[in-house]
Amino acid sequence: MSNQITGKTSIYGVLGYPIEHSLSPLIHNYIASYLQHDLVYVPFSTHPTTLERAIQGAWSLGIEGLNVTIPYKEKVIPYLVGVDSFASQMGAVNTLKRTSKGYVGYNTDGVGLLQSLKQHGVEIKGKTLMILGAGGAARAAAMIAAHHGITNLWVINRTLQHADKLIKDVKKFYSIKGQAMSWNQLQNLKEYPTIDICIQTTPIGMYPNIQISPINDIDFFKQIQTVVDLIYNPLETKFLSLAKQSGCQTMNGLEMLVFQGIKAYELWLECQVPSSLQEQVVIKMEQYFKVKDDKVQ
Ligand code: NAP
Repeated sequence: MSNQITGKTSIYGVLGYPIEHSLSPLIHNYIASYLQHDLVYVPFSTHPTTLERAIQGAWSLGIEGLNVTIPYKEKVIPYLVGVDSFASQMGAVNTLKRTSKGYVGYNTDGVGLLQSLKQHGVEIKGKTLMILGAGGAARAAAMIAAHHGITNLWVINRTLQHADKLIKDVKKFYSIKGQAMSWNQLQNLKEYPTIDICIQTTPIGMYPNIQISPINDIDFFKQIQTVVDLIYNPLETKFLSLAKQSGCQTMNGLEMLVFQGIKAYELWLECQVPSSLQEQVVIKMEQYFKVKDDKVQ
């Protein structure tokens, strides 16, 4: 955030509903303050009946860029003047950049996830990936992973049709082997498949429901090398804790959250956020959660 808001200060923000718990203002204002960019980043709680007017109004008011979060990543697309080709493959945007005619949509969730995997030394080329869930985050994960060379994709979801559709959509663009399943079908397999990377993308286990996990059978984890949970509150879900107990390499969703935000920032400001600052932001956010957890206990 700019130290002093003047007539020249640029405005950015995040649009969602609800939005009060968003960490994006903390991330973006911290980076702007460090890099001494004259901008402010604020949350915009936008009721579903006002989405179109909100986008038009934001553009009329000169807002330079917006992040878009649940429940608008798909719904906002009709109100944009363009969508980047990768976001279009994903069918969802999380970043809007101002142009002279309106906003253009991008999706930085996938690259954020990819960067966090790289940070942990996880290579995806030629690997078998299992995704739990088939919503927007699963879609971003599947497309970026297929783009970077996974060869086998499993999608496990409550609604089998959504898993089927995700596999079909990925196959439209990439030549991979795909397998869609419901949770029951997975549990009824004679033995669990061997998986290199498993990414949990459902909200199961997120605060305050921290005592539940989408999978409790320890045998499931024995067949997996790296387990990622996109949840970051808590930093270690029950799902991740079970994976860790089974000897898997584990990662939570905090780095993805930070990196997708940084990618959006770089898109808007046409700059590069130094890697030392990126690491600093991750540490700051981890501290934020640790302090919060201490207060809860
Ligand atoms: P979404 O589009 O609403 O998709 C949710 C998915 O979870 C769907 O596949 C849904 O299954 C499944 N699901 C929801 N509740 C379930 C339940 N009770 N039992 C079984 N399956 C359930 O949401 P999203 O945007 O993908 O976000 C999903 C999660 O990822 C959230 O926790 C979000 O915070 C997290 N996320 C994290 C980051 C990050 O940067 N770390 C980024 C994006 C998202 P159906 O198809 O059957 O409805």
